[in-house]
Amino acid sequence: MDDSTRKELTAWLEFYHELGIEGFYRRELGNAVMPAGLKAMPPRVAVSAEPDPSSLRVAAPPVPVRLITPTKPAATAIPSRAVIPPPASAFNLFETPPTTPSGPESLEQIRHDLGDCHRCKLAPTRKTIVFGDGNPHAELVFIGEGPGADEDEQGLPFVGRAGKLLNKMMQMVGLKREDVYICNIVKCRPPGNRTPETDEIETCSPFLYRQIAAIKPRLICCLGAPAARTVLGIKEGITKVHGHFYNFGSIKAMPTVHPAYVLRNMREEKILIGDFEKIRDFLKGL
Ligand code: URA
Repeated sequence: MDDSTRKELTAWLEFYHELGIEGFYRRELGNAVMPAGLKAMPPRVAVSAEPDPSSLRVAAPPVPVRLITPTKPAATAIPSRAVIPPPASAFNLFETPPTTPSGPESLEQIRHDLGDCHRCKLAPTRKTIVFGDGNPHAELVFIGEGPGADEDEQGLPFVGRAGKLLNKMMQMVGLKREDVYICNIVKCRPPGNRTPETDEIETCSPFLYRQIAAIKPRLICCLGAPAARTVLGIKEGITKVHGHFYNFGSIKAMPTVHPAYVLRNMREEKILIGDFEKIRDFLKGL
């Protein structure tokens, strides 16, 4: 590989790091075509070091870029987003060209890339891939944990009991479901509605980050601890960190309790109500 190609590839990887995309997957074997537009892409980050050619294999990603810094509470340590390791088998970047970063991807492109996904062990038991639903230009994106039985049936997120509570909360603060975008950290139902496992999240979350990058919302609301841990690297309990605003790159992000948790503990509904009022105030610029 010549020197300028290596530098361009390094810039390419850094661009994806800035977006928070740190896991790559093999789309197709043996495709050795340079991605369209890569030649034209100006390196966003000056490259001074001479990378070892092996570092351009995704098995050894460059030093992770820390994107997340909490703005509240002030005393909270800077959470680092869960680093998404690459799949076990290394591959050459020329074999897996991502789409050009010269413009944002569309949700349709990302859905197309996801395909009939069998990248993780949730695939054999799911009925439907629940990609996400709502306004592709939403100011607010809700991120849940994973599809349940109703979602798996219908192919849409939050359409069961938890979804009805989510709708009620949105209505309460004057938000319309069709104005927001709703998705999950994994796109396939975990058997028995168990919490998604680390390897499943690591495999699926790059698609989530690409969805966020495509939508460019003003605010992300993480519903429940797994979403807060995945997106914001928050390890503290959700009842401690809920309602605080964090930074996800240039996007604000607020964790709150999962509606399914509230359904099991109706006394906690006031937490959800209070946090949704904060969402409303944030979106109104208050
Ligand atoms: N719970 C979730 O976390 N996501 C859904 O889509 C439905 C229920």
